[in-house]
Amino acid sequence: MSTDYNLYEAVIGLEVHAQMLTKSKAFCSDAITYGAMPNTQVGPISLGHPGALPVHNKEAVKYAVKLGLACQCDIIPHNYYARKNYFYADLPKGYQISQHNTPICENGYIEIKLKDGTEKRIGLIRIHMEEDTGKSMHDQDVYDTLIDYNRAGTALVEMVTQPEIRTGEEAYLYLSEVRKLLRYLDICDGNMEEGSMRCDANVSVRLKGNKTFGTKVEVKNMNSIRNVQRAIDYEIVRQIDAITAGEKIFQETRTFDAMKGETIVMRSKEGASDYRYFSEPDLPPLHITAEFIDAVKAQMPALPKELFHQFTAVYGLSAYDAGVLTENKDVASYFEAVLKHTGNFKSAANWVMVQVKGYLNEQALEIKDFVLQPAKIAEIIDLIDSGKVSSTVATKEVFPVMLREHHKSALEIAETLNVIQESNSDELQKIVDEAIARFPEKVTEYKTGKVSLVGLFMGEVMKLSRGKADPKVASKLVKDTLDKI
Ligand code: ADP
Ligand code: MG
Repeated sequence: MSTDYNLYEAVIGLEVHAQMLTKSKAFCSDAITYGAMPNTQVGPISLGHPGALPVHNKEAVKYAVKLGLACQCDIIPHNYYARKNYFYADLPKGYQISQHNTPICENGYIEIKLKDGTEKRIGLIRIHMEEDTGKSMHDQDVYDTLIDYNRAGTALVEMVTQPEIRTGEEAYLYLSEVRKLLRYLDICDGNMEEGSMRCDANVSVRLKGNKTFGTKVEVKNMNSIRNVQRAIDYEIVRQIDAITAGEKIFQETRTFDAMKGETIVMRSKEGASDYRYFSEPDLPPLHITAEFIDAVKAQMPALPKELFHQFTAVYGLSAYDAGVLTENKDVASYFEAVLKHTGNFKSAANWVMVQVKGYLNEQALEIKDFVLQPAKIAEIIDLIDSGKVSSTVATKEVFPVMLREHHKSALEIAETLNVIQESNSDELQKIVDEAIARFPEKVTEYKTGKVSLVGLFMGEVMKLSRGKADPKVASKLVKDTLDKI
């Protein structure tokens, strides 16, 4: 008998850890440069030497509030840290400083757009601050695990969703939104491969219609958003198969093997009480004042949703175009900068989405490394709009040269290339007359009603002008001239 997977639904909650892009760590002044020589960014506080005292990093608190505001969370004015005690080699103090009962933000949501165009809000339970651990490396030495403590003490926020996600795809969309938001806010680089954004997926399944949740399994170690989706999709099928076979689901932590596309048991879940939480005696409680929140609000950048609205409602772009342009903050800023120099919104959108992004993809470059200033894109749009070059010539001939000779104006380049269209009607009229004079018998045929012959005359005009005749102006002149004969 084959399993009917449709009888079940999955219940998924995600925990995202994001490393804050602060200059120094959460509770001391050690730097946090990724890829630095192991164990070179480790002062006494990072290493938990006896007597070393942690100090709040105000910038990290600001980042957490920024994120909370962007997610419509309640900012909790009075909150403090706790010690989460456990023994692990990458945790030098033997405990992690983390917000346990009093997260800095509660409630709020992230909105995702489903395939059918509807929007779904994924509720957040909390966003809290904590410090990162060191990093164990199991593949650097044949016999031993090596540990790099550079990461220990890095400021993190953890965002925990309500169990409101139902499919691997929704998880994918949620994480894409979160990453976009972190990058817009400039508080985390969102790089899952380097581990600066990490996600644990809590997955359970239940028969559709059931009100109670099934036993959840936590899956870790996915190094991309796509792999989170794969891990969840695998886990859902595994759990349904197990239940169908009459087995029990154990509450455990599993790891994702990206090569095999499978989840594998890592450990059975320790009870929360094992952590022996108590409030951190070395750090004073945090008071988030209304003034502090206002100051953060004043520094908030425009968020993707606001830009999307502006691009569609004010500039009249399609939802698709606005989506592509707001996907990345730097691309959106570049597009807005182009608009400072041209009023042709649609054309600016096309140039940024097609030519600019196409070139960047091909060269594996980020837009911040793009050689052409936004004004240059406006120049080339002006060249087309003023009828000086056709859009094909602009794309195929002018733009590639601009990429190499970016100090020159688009017009200079078009002139040097000798591709400026002839749209001066006096000049063109001479060419049209000459083209028509070359085929007297065709003129007679045209006069008897063979209007398709306009094409032949146009071909001749293009030849005589060496391709520079503005086709729109020329074809009108050809017709007018023929009609007057
Ligand atoms: P824990 O204490 O084990 O970390 P929490 O209650 O804090 O568990 O929840 C952690 C995450 O697991 C949250 O995102 C939550 O929405 C999700 N979650 C809770 N129960 C379930 C369940 N039965 N199935 C799937 N996800 C769940
Ligand atoms: Mg958990």
